[in-house]
Amino acid sequence: MEQTPSASDRMTGAAGIGTGPMYATRAFRTLRRLPTVPVPLPGESLFSWVDHLAHTYEVDRGRMMRALGLEPKGAHAGQLARYTDLIDRPDLELLQHATGLDLARLEQMSLMGARIHHVESGNDETPWAPGKVWAFCPQCLKPPARWPSWWYESWAVLCPVHRCYTASFCPDCGSPFTPATLRGDAPGLCPGFVGPSRPASKLPSGRRRRCARPLWKIETPSVTDPVVREVHRILSSHLMVGAPFHPSATRQWYDDFRTLRFLLGVPRPVRVRSFSSLDCTLQQRHCGEQVDKTVREGGTQWHSSASGFLHPWRVTDRGIRDKTRDPVAVAAEIHVIGTVLASDDVESTIQKVFDVPYPRDLASSGDHGLPRYLLRASASLDHLLQTVLSLSSADELRERRALMASLRMQRTSTVKQDRQ
Ligand SMILES: [Zn+2]
Ligand SMILES: [Zn+2]
Repeated sequence: MEQTPSASDRMTGAAGIGTGPMYATRAFRTLRRLPTVPVPLPGESLFSWVDHLAHTYEVDRGRMMRALGLEPKGAHAGQLARYTDLIDRPDLELLQHATGLDLARLEQMSLMGARIHHVESGNDETPWAPGKVWAFCPQCLKPPARWPSWWYESWAVLCPVHRCYTASFCPDCGSPFTPATLRGDAPGLCPGFVGPSRPASKLPSGRRRRCARPLWKIETPSVTDPVVREVHRILSSHLMVGAPFHPSATRQWYDDFRTLRFLLGVPRPVRVRSFSSLDCTLQQRHCGEQVDKTVREGGTQWHSSASGFLHPWRVTDRGIRDKTRDPVAVAAEIHVIGTVLASDDVESTIQKVFDVPYPRDLASSGDHGLPRYLLRASASLDHLLQTVLSLSSADELRERRALMASLRMQRTSTVKQDRQ
């Protein structure tokens, strides 16, 4: 097995973490090349890959991280989750030194690395908010598991391998799935704690008992909705690192998709009046005519959102109500958007599907202008946009779209002149 850095070198490295040639030089001296390195799977997350290396070398996660130059300060999981969000160049170089893999391949395993890929492919408008709850496919988490970084994305509603919905929290203890809490010594088991109101919530030592439910045994329904499957396929082609498709064919579709998603997600969104999916799981999420609907199921409360879908809320140990990420509710919205965009007459489908309870003034709610994809949306969405936005926001949109169109025309004529 590889040597790990000495305590004094670790301290030196920690003092200058991520900066300066001294840190890099000293850390390099203590790192040795690993004899064998499993290559990352396409789209694999850094967290998953490091755990896989630890499994391969039969060492704990902390020791593996040190052998890779990724100094774990405090809890291993939290630190590895931070590296999975964003890994600096000096740390990437240490990883490269220890593994022999190229920098780009290593960087793509982090969320920021995937984001750079989005920027390069023109899809740079995904909100950057690392550290949130991830979705996961239970069946894919069966140890020894290797799992992808796209589970972080908000559209990660299904697993294309197992054709089931993803989950985002443990149904037993309600703990959200977040890499920062995943235990290295109990792979695949829920790291959450049993709630204080449950019997035997404490160990004889007085410490809190872990839930430890095998996450891979959580059952999630099959995805039977063809629209959701197709939309997921297209989104994957745009946003998965190393995706096999070229996105230009669906670029307009993708701008329209994001525009409708924006309108469903803003604080005072359009409301879905009519929901046509035959998928029972999705049907259960639509509130129908009922504006304020609340359902209790076990330890989870379901409340209607302003867009017309039920979302799970959980009450935390401290009694705080917390809206939980829910892949199925997102899938229901994706069904609506996909259906609208695939229809022969988009405008009349919009009339049938959406209600617009109140126009929205983007400026007054602190938005910094309109997202660029709104400006590129198809003409078939114009009427909806004009209805949803308040007068001043609609004017702003019209002016900026006109400006963008004239810039596009100027660019086209310049290219033609250059060719002549
Ligand atoms: Zn799966
Ligand atoms: Zn649990």
